Amino acid sequence: MDLRQFKESIYELIVETSTNLPADVRRAILRAKAREDAGTRAALALATIVDNIRMAEENVSPICQDTGMPTFEIKCPVGANQIEMKKAIREAVAEATKNGKLRPNSVDPITGKNTGDNLGPGMPVIHFEQWEHDDIEVRLLLKGGGCENKNIQYSLPCELPGLGRANRDLDGVRKCILHAVYQAQGQGCSAGFIGVCIGGDRTTGYQAAKEQLFRPVDDVNPDPQLRELEAYIMEHANKLGIGTMGFGGQTTLLGCKITKLNRLPASFFVSVAYNCWAFRRMGVVIDAQTGKIKRWLYRDEPVPMPKGQEDLAAAGGSGTRTVVLTTPLTEEQVRDLRVGDVVILNGLVYTGRDALHKYLVDHDSPVDLRGGVIYHCGPVMVKDEAGNWQVKAAGPTTSIREEPYQADIIRKFGIRAVIGKGGMGKKTLEALKECGAVYLNAIGGAAQYYADCVEAVEGVYFLEEFGIPEAMWLLRVKNFAAVVTMDAHGNSLHEDVEKSSFEKLAELAGPVFK
Ligand code: SF4
Repeated sequence: MDLRQFKESIYELIVETSTNLPADVRRAILRAKAREDAGTRAALALATIVDNIRMAEENVSPICQDTGMPTFEIKCPVGANQIEMKKAIREAVAEATKNGKLRPNSVDPITGKNTGDNLGPGMPVIHFEQWEHDDIEVRLLLKGGGCENKNIQYSLPCELPGLGRANRDLDGVRKCILHAVYQAQGQGCSAGFIGVCIGGDRTTGYQAAKEQLFRPVDDVNPDPQLRELEAYIMEHANKLGIGTMGFGGQTTLLGCKITKLNRLPASFFVSVAYNCWAFRRMGVVIDAQTGKIKRWLYRDEPVPMPKGQEDLAAAGGSGTRTVVLTTPLTEEQVRDLRVGDVVILNGLVYTGRDALHKYLVDHDSPVDLRGGVIYHCGPVMVKDEAGNWQVKAAGPTTSIREEPYQADIIRKFGIRAVIGKGGMGKKTLEALKECGAVYLNAIGGAAQYYADCVEAVEGVYFLEEFGIPEAMWLLRVKNFAAVVTMDAHGNSLHEDVEKSSFEKLAELAGPVFK
């Protein structure tokens, strides 16, 4: 095979997967948008997502800044040289990272040191399988950490909050899947897609669950029992009311695909792989001689994302209160905000993720953070030819990881707003109330939408120590729109949605499948 051409084909596959959402996923998102009432938080969030998908395609830039764990599933003819193919794939991954199509995401598990090229032990994931065809089929999934953290595995029988005992039968499986959707809330950037495996062992169960994510969204399960379960889950999970980003709404789940594997008599696992709306998976069929792409998978027809949607920044016309603020913020401005308000932010914001939060607890900040805004974001950044940093993608990351640190940091540095996604816990809520600060939920995955709000990169700290995603970037933003979901009066939309979805979950205790 022409390996140079094979590497180019893989590079093209990576770029397309990262920047161009497949047709079946686009259709599912447009259907979800059509179900929401105009002007609701869910509708505004979905409109922003639609904008973002279109911008990513136009800019050939990552849909979400968390370009995730690259997972390649490859089928190749007998005799194909898997060692050489692996080498070419690794080279293509490194090149895509250098060009800002993937964020450098591979870190040492203990020190957190970033390799800078998305390579390292276990990265990328490459699975080979032989088949009796002449061509090579390569499928790629880019699954980010926010949704990966919401994967869950159950060992039956077990007790599930709200649902009671899940026995070793189909009804027990039903309860586990409903619980999996409930526990994800908005933290995995709902509305989501789930792949499920009933049976197997702990390892094969998770792997098969993830493989289900490669099924087209609109396909039909050939197993009648699993087909019925998939339909049940789609109908009832969407009654939980978690909605897009956990804002509440009609659509919580966009797809559910279930398979089964034989198990040992002693074990009964149900494994659930949760994927966010930014469901980046694509595939190609490659000629095994020339290394050239013969055809694309998941591209049955073009599905353009419409322009002119009422997105978050345009929310003023929809009856939602919109407040325009410029940083640094005052206590009075912040205490005036209420859950549900849309804030349009201008001025300087500081990115900070896990490494920075851990650091700030014990050290001083290199900049004065009083009245400041911390943005939970690990952007994709590249230097242009003049040596200036350019933001390639800059959406919010999952905030709950900073819960152990956030309250202390708000108190210590006088922070007035924290931007992220998925919400935070009780400790942070108390600190917001005590100090006069708010939590702003940006639209998870809308990395192009928010990158477009960045007018200038005014500096960076801890780049060497923490790497690009974890460094403290000073970003000057304009028209940065986000929703107040935790205010300075002790209110939390996340708590409210969790409570109401739990009540709805409990109504589904059943039994349903005998
Ligand atoms: S859309 Fe959300 S969960 Fe998905 S990769 Fe992006 S930040 Fe992570």
